[in-house]
Amino acid sequence: MMKRSAIVALILAFLLAVLAGCGSSGTNTSDQPAANAGTVASTAPSVPPTDNRESRPPAASPQSSGDGLLKVHFLDVGQADSILVQFPNGQNMLVDAGNNDDGPAVVSYLKSKGVSRIDYLVATHPHEDHIGGMDNVIRAFNIGRVYMPRVTTTTKTFEDVLLAVKEKGLKISTARAGVTVLDQGSLKVNFVAPCGSNYEDLNNWSAVTRIQYGSTSFLLAGDAEAQSEEEMLASGANLKADVLKVGHHGSSSSTSPAFLKAVAPKYAIISVGAGNDYGHPHKETLAKLANAGIRVYRTDRDGTVVFTSDGKNISVEKLGSTIRPRAPDAGGVAPAATVTPTGSKSGYIGNKNSKKFHRPDCRWAAEIAPHNRVEFGTREEAIAAGYVPCKVCRP
Ligand SMILES: [Zn+2]
Ligand SMILES: [Zn+2]
Repeated sequence: MMKRSAIVALILAFLLAVLAGCGSSGTNTSDQPAANAGTVASTAPSVPPTDNRESRPPAASPQSSGDGLLKVHFLDVGQADSILVQFPNGQNMLVDAGNNDDGPAVVSYLKSKGVSRIDYLVATHPHEDHIGGMDNVIRAFNIGRVYMPRVTTTTKTFEDVLLAVKEKGLKISTARAGVTVLDQGSLKVNFVAPCGSNYEDLNNWSAVTRIQYGSTSFLLAGDAEAQSEEEMLASGANLKADVLKVGHHGSSSSTSPAFLKAVAPKYAIISVGAGNDYGHPHKETLAKLANAGIRVYRTDRDGTVVFTSDGKNISVEKLGSTIRPRAPDAGGVAPAATVTPTGSKSGYIGNKNSKKFHRPDCRWAAEIAPHNRVEFGTREEAIAAGYVPCKVCRP
């Protein structure tokens, strides 16, 4: 068990690191990775500075063919996100790493695709269903740049990620709108969110990544909700994408009509677990996508979905369940098939024991024992029943 003081020091180091990397300017293709608050070990693997990319193209990963194709894999990690991007130059990017239980499966999937180095590792925001498996990933691969939004949380899951970052002697670069990750002719990768620096909801801190390859494009929206979508629209950034990773697992709190119109995707992909407690994807979101004539893929039905672009055309492949199917909160114990479908529940979860109530996606909600669990349709209902809001997810 880690001492409290050590945990506080770790979080402080994270804050210093990302604060140091936060300038007021827009793109930071030329600035150095954020200061590392003394976390670089002398034995750290030497990471080629990506800032030299203009004069010297980064070396391709040895196992990657660099075959001129962009491959974007949406891993079937249940009610969570994990996206592997294999760039045509042979480099790899991983956006999120599933829940804590998904770590080993994400690692083995990447290895099966010949990945030995993750040149760009993006933690969209510090919710367990996005960063849970990231400590496993950091320990298993040679890692280049690590991008995170400038926000912290006090969960053990987040501390585990910071610890793995520290152990590897890695630096953290700030993920925020305007930051360019990669710019090599026909291949361009940049963040279009978060635009702001003060959000009540961790989901709106989500790093949103746009990838352009030739005339094809992808937008990976993390869990960004309507507030962040409005800011992205107001920023004037190019949001157009052929493929949209739908925000927040298809929740109705994301994918506002104006945002969907600006992205104007041909394909939508929803990363979602079968029979999840939140009723994701919400029927409102599915209706919006259907009305716009967008072809929808879902990891709960299609398993892992891989989009391949040659810079002009995109092809789609459904791999089925390459990663074990699991429902949320089953803790890897109960097989998905035995979990009772709960239907559409998008309210709040209370703990009869602590008398606190949570957003359904709060990690503390996931840890409530079934006999202590109570569901409320609205916030008002929970408060009327004498429950107080959780300080972590702030419902
Ligand atoms: Zn999520
Ligand atoms: Zn989230």
